[in-house]
Parts: sequence; C-alpha cells; structure tokens
Amino acid sequence: MNQVGNPEKDHPAYTQEKGLLALYEIVKAVNSTLDLDEVLNLIIKETTKLFHADAGSVMLLNENSVLTIKSAQGLPGEIIKNTRVRLGEGIAGWVAKTGETLLLDGKVTDPRFKNLVDRKEEILSSICTPLKCKGKIIGVLMLRRTHFKSYTEEQRNLFSLIADQAAIAIENASLYEAEKKRSYELRRLNEILRLEKLKIETILSSMADGVVVTTPGGEIIHINRSTERMLNVNGKDIVGKHFDHLFTEECCFDEIKYTVIETDGRYKSDFSRKTDDGEMHFRLIGTVMKGKGDKPDGLVMVIQNITEMKRIDKMKSEFVSMVSHELRTPLTSVVGFAELMMNREFNPERRKRYLNIIIKDSERLMRLIDDLLDLSKLEAGKFYFKPTPFKIDEIISQVMESLKGQAPEHNLLLEITEEIPILSLDRDMFTNLISNLLSNAVKYSPDSGDIKVTLQSNEKEVSVCVSDHGIGIEAEKIPRIFDKFYRVDSSLNRKTGGTGLGLATVKYIVEEFGGKIWVESELGKGSSFIFTLPLED
Ligand code: ADP
Repeated sequence: MNQVGNPEKDHPAYTQEKGLLALYEIVKAVNSTLDLDEVLNLIIKETTKLFHADAGSVMLLNENSVLTIKSAQGLPGEIIKNTRVRLGEGIAGWVAKTGETLLLDGKVTDPRFKNLVDRKEEILSSICTPLKCKGKIIGVLMLRRTHFKSYTEEQRNLFSLIADQAAIAIENASLYEAEKKRSYELRRLNEILRLEKLKIETILSSMADGVVVTTPGGEIIHINRSTERMLNVNGKDIVGKHFDHLFTEECCFDEIKYTVIETDGRYKSDFSRKTDDGEMHFRLIGTVMKGKGDKPDGLVMVIQNITEMKRIDKMKSEFVSMVSHELRTPLTSVVGFAELMMNREFNPERRKRYLNIIIKDSERLMRLIDDLLDLSKLEAGKFYFKPTPFKIDEIISQVMESLKGQAPEHNLLLEITEEIPILSLDRDMFTNLISNLLSNAVKYSPDSGDIKVTLQSNEKEVSVCVSDHGIGIEAEKIPRIFDKFYRVDSSLNRKTGGTGLGLATVKYIVEEFGGKIWVESELGKGSSFIFTLPLED
C-alpha cells in the first residue's frame, strides 16, 4: 500500500507542494489496479486518511440516476446497504445534480443547503465533490467530520483534483470490468453455441432417418450419417453440391422448393433404389426451414427407409389371404360334410369316414388358431417363462415317441455323444420348440428317410441339431425362413397345410432361452436346424 501524506502534521498549513505530493500518491495507488472494488476502496481509504475525516463514501449513479454507496469508511453496514439518493436529494444529490463541490461547516446558514435532509446535527463539517468523467457526472466523493475543523480552500481544491483523478480511475476500472464481463459473456455464448451445435450434430448423426439440409437455392449444407448409409454416398463429396446430384432421377429440387415455399406445403414422395442388399424403398419428406420474418433460410429433407414397412405391409396382406385360405379350406369341408350328413342317411362305414374328415379338419383349424395365439402371446410378452430343471434328451425322446405314430415311414433317431447337463428352462416351451422342428422335418421329408437329433455340449453351451433328408431349402430363401408367415413357395407346400408361424415361434423361444438358431440346407438333399442353449455360469 502506498503511503500518502501526513495531514495531521501538515494541517492547517497545507502547502501546495505537499498537497500535490499527496495527490500524486493517491493517483498512483488508484491506478495500480483495474479491479473496480479495489479502486473504490483505495480512493475512500486514502482520502479519508488524508483529509482527516471520520467517515467517507464513494457513491455512484446507477442506470436509474440513483446514487448508491459503492465503498465507504466509518459508516455502518446498514447505511452502506440501504442508502439510495435521488438527484437533487441531500448533499450528495445536490452535488451530483449541480456538479459543484460543496463544503459545509458548522451551522448551515446558506438557504440553498438548509433543507438538505441528510445533514445530521453531530456532523460538523462535510465536503462533497462530483466525480466527473468526460464531462459526465458518474457519482460523488464525500467526507465528513464529527469534530469541528473546517476544510480550507486549498483542501477543497485538492479534494476536487483527487476526485477528478479518482473519476478517471473509476471509469477505467468500470470499462475494464465491462469489457471483462462482455468477453466472459461472449465466451459463454460461444460455449452455448458450441454445445448447441454439438447437440444438433449428435441428434442428426444418431437419427435413423436421413437428413439433408440445403440453402434456398439447393446447395447441400449438411447431410447426416444415415443419409450417407442409405444412399451410399460420402458427405464430404456431397456437401457444397446441388441437391439434384443426390437424386438424379427420383425427385427434383425445384419441385420440392415449389411445394414447400410457394405453396407452403409439405413435399412427400416415395422412391426405390436397387442396392447390394436388394431393392430398398425410401420416403422423402421436404419442409422449409424458416428464419427471421418467416423468410425461408433453407430446406430440410428427411429420408426414411420404408423397406421394412413395405415388407410388413406385404406380409400382412399375404397373411390375411393365407389365413383366410387356411381357415376356409378346412371349414368348407367341415360345413360340407356336416350338411351332407344332415340331409342324407349314410351307412355306418361312410358315416364314420365323413365324421373322421370333420374331426381331422376341425383339428387342423384348432392347430392354426393355437399357433396364431401362441405366437401373438409370446410377442406381446404375455407368456411367462417358468424355468424348471430337466433333462432335455428325455423331452426330445418323448416328442419323438409321440411323432412316431404320425410318421411311421420315417426313422427318428436321437444321437448323444456325451453326457448332457441338466438345463433349467420352460419345459412346455422347450417341448413346443422340439415338436415344431421335428414335425417340420417329417412334413418336409415326403420320401421319408432318417430324421436325426444330435445333442452336443461344451463348457459354455448345449447344441441341438435336427436334421432330415427332405426337400431342403434354396440358399436365397434361407434368410427369410424364420420370418413370420413365410412359407417357401413349393408344390409340396401348396399341398401341406401350414401357417408359416412355426419357425418364427421356434426362433422366439430359442432367443428367449438366450440361445441362437440357424439352418444349413441344400435343395433336394435335406436340412439341419441347429440351435444352442447357454449353460448357466
Ligand atoms: P409351416 O411349416 O407352417 O409352413 P414354418 O414356419 O414351420 O411354417 O416353416 C416355414 C417354411 O420353412 C415352411 O413353409 C417350409 O417352406 C420351410 N421349412 C421349414 N422346415 C423345413 C425343413 N425341415 N425342410 C425344408 N423346408 C422347411
């Protein structure tokens, strides 16, 4: 801290030289920092000391032209906190309004100052001077004495000089503070913008739908990863090019622009593309991106891959026609034979034959309905798997036994090369799974032959293979074999009843058990359905 003057010794014979020295010291002190609070504290501390005052304050005008105490010496905290002085009010208000220095000693006789409200009896001497910067009053500097010792004219001049220097230091510190605040705000805004940009980029890049953003003229300014994948393009090569580069045949930018800007509508168009994974279907939705005053800032196109949706739609309609066909065929024969028997008398042998047909077709209907209900329950999560420990080879043997009656021509074999650990699974679901695979093996082996179930295990899992020497499956049909309602279109399939739900159910059950299922097959030679079941740790 700089040492300033020695007013005690100098006073009352204050020499000009000493005053200037004191001024120099104060100016040096307040200019040694750019911290506004520190500058204010230094000003008030040094002037109070120099002018031998009992109290002092620096008051600054706020944006509402009200003076508040920014720094003080010898004043109670409450006063510092609560003082609010309007222009023209009290000593400080008068000085801030007139811009004149005011020196009040002892009893106030000047009628102009008689009514200054904050002049208390115990204050015997006050000096208050405006803080002026570039001709503008920014506040006041005020000192008070409770003992009577009037300020000299020289002191008054020195006080004004100090106030002028203090005002410059305050202004500099305020400017510095404002600049600091502004650059902090700027940094904060930049950070917000950076985060917002990152957020938008993350959202766009993690979106399953493709997004292409263009200028109103059609220049591509952004494409996300999904678009790159869907349309097999590289963003780096595309950004900056015209939108029509991306869709040479399917749609044209001017048409989209016309719809979304001229007619304020929403553009929607479906198109297909041949890719390595087969034909893909897409939907392009174009909207306008509006900026200030509803002016179009650009266009946003969302590209949805609707291949799966189209496939499901197709499957649904195939399913409806298939189910109605599957239901209608047995029902026609049930109703037909029942009517026949109602209208005519038959001998017991024929009656029995017709009743057998009715029973067999009704059973077929029940099977179809059961399959449908089972799968929809599984998929809706309404089926609760109850694991119980059992030997899977025993269940497989039981299923084989019960199938033997329906497939006397087929040779059903169970091959176990090692001891199979006991597994804890839902027993009914495991039975359902094995029955489905074995009955398919029988159904799709019209020329009979061996049907073999092989069980193997290692320290991680048990694997089950159901193999037949039946009609086999074409390689290109294999990827769809576990799809719901999917049936290979073959003459055998046209003859045999089926829903295409068996393998979908099987896959669902295996996955619910934590395993995997796949098929190895050769057309005309036979198929092997292999699934694994994990062992518990
Ligand atoms: P479904 O047998 O009722 O038609 P699945 O879902 O059980 O339905 O089977 C779907 C299709 O997979 C069958 O229609 C058939 O074309 C084929 N498939 C299933 N198992 C075999 C097999 N062991 N050999 C040859 N093709 C099979």
